[in-house]
Amino acid sequence: MSGDGEKTAPPHSPGFLVEVDDATLRRERAKARELRASPWWKRKRAAGICHWCGREVGAAALTMDHVVPLVRGGRSTKGNLVPACKPCNDEKKYRLPTEWAPPAR
Ligand SMILES: [Zn+2]
Repeated sequence: MSGDGEKTAPPHSPGFLVEVDDATLRRERAKARELRASPWWKRKRAAGICHWCGREVGAAALTMDHVVPLVRGGRSTKGNLVPACKPCNDEKKYRLPTEWAPPAR
């Protein structure tokens, strides 16, 4: 007979969130801060348009949003950062773009 050995359950089931360690989060947040001060970002923000809802809210009202959130395994790269208005950023939070539809314009 066999199969009655102790099952090793995963120590922690991440489920919805992928596991990202604190060091990585800190590093990626620091990178995002750096990019926020870069000419690249200033240019992107200057249009004043939210990436998600398409509203023109003005550069000052735009925040930096991770398309794939850091807690979902996203990184602070130019390809993963978009300008978003506060309501969209708050709404989207850690969701993936496929899990969230921006409000109708
Ligand atoms: Zn928006």
